[in-house]
Amino acid sequence: MIPAAFRYAAPRSVAEAVDLLRGNEDAKVLAGGHSLLPLMKLRLANPPVLVDINRIPDLNYIREDAQLGQLRIGALARHIDFERSDLIRQRYPMLWDAARGIGDPLVRNRGTLAGAVAHADPAADWPAALLGADGEVVAFGSKGERVIPIRELYVAILTTSLTSDELLTEVRVPMPQARTGGAYEKLERKVGDYAVIGVGAQLVLDASGDVAHAGIGLCNAASTSIKATGAEAFLVAKPPAPDNINEAARLAMEAADPVDDDRGPIDYKRAMVRELTRRALRRALARAQGGMA
Ligand SMILES: Cc1cc2nc3c(=O)[nH]c(=O)nc-3n(C[C@H](O)[C@H](O)[C@H](O)COP(=O)(O)OP(=O)(O)OC[C@H]3O[C@@H](n4cnc5c(N)ncnc54)[C@H](O)[C@@H]3O)c2cc1C
Repeated sequence: MIPAAFRYAAPRSVAEAVDLLRGNEDAKVLAGGHSLLPLMKLRLANPPVLVDINRIPDLNYIREDAQLGQLRIGALARHIDFERSDLIRQRYPMLWDAARGIGDPLVRNRGTLAGAVAHADPAADWPAALLGADGEVVAFGSKGERVIPIRELYVAILTTSLTSDELLTEVRVPMPQARTGGAYEKLERKVGDYAVIGVGAQLVLDASGDVAHAGIGLCNAASTSIKATGAEAFLVAKPPAPDNINEAARLAMEAADPVDDDRGPIDYKRAMVRELTRRALRRALARAQGGMA
């Protein structure tokens, strides 16, 4: 199908992009286009103006900022950039796992992490991984810049707390402390498909080997990407023993509220949340203990 007519703008700066968004309330940002353009072709989205951010310089980066203590990801960093990054593979293996499982090479070549975060599809992998990693986003709008924890970003399906004139300029993830490990597990019907269920889990161990911090994000387990906070809290200040991991996985399942659709019935999806949480936590633990499982 052919999209409805729209006006196209290609700003050369973040400020110019925000001006365009402010002046056109129903305008949409165009990043990789791999979520927006299919919706426009189906006429499920009919933005009168597209603000293409691809010509804004200096938005495609993935770098650690030691002063901030965070990994900084620019709005134009694409899925493929994570897959190919030694920094991500070695220090942020949960993000590396997640990137490699997204769609197919065509999607990974163009799609951006920030676009996936802004799109707020509960079936997208990045939001769950970033919830597990306790990430935050930087939004720039006509009222200036604000930082929003990812756990406060998702309001409803395909809806974030960003205002219509805000551009998501950066996503940040805390730099790993010693004894940190993370893993992303995804169950898909076939290669290249969206997740039936996905789970991003991260563990930080203290010097005695107990869990000092846990992060667990769930993909396609509810009407938004969610954080399994009960499971996270249960793990803290305990040894990462199999029984504790099993109980955390059960608590993650309790937090899930999936829908019955062509990816499976509710009971099956809830069981998959439990199993994938268990697997993600086990691999996160092995990585925190120094292995690269
Ligand atoms: C065949 C296919 C398979 C796919 N499989 C998967 C999968 O397995 N897992 C998965 O997670 N995803 C999957 N995707 C989605 C893909 O990852 C998209 O690239 C991603 O969801 C959106 O990123 P984008 O850069 O393409 O965003 P766009 O499509 O350009 O934009 C998406 C939305 O976010 C807004 N937006 C984009 N950037 C910004 C910004 N910087 N600030 C504010 N708003 C912004 C846009 O206005 C739009 O509303 C698939 C897509 C396709 C077509």
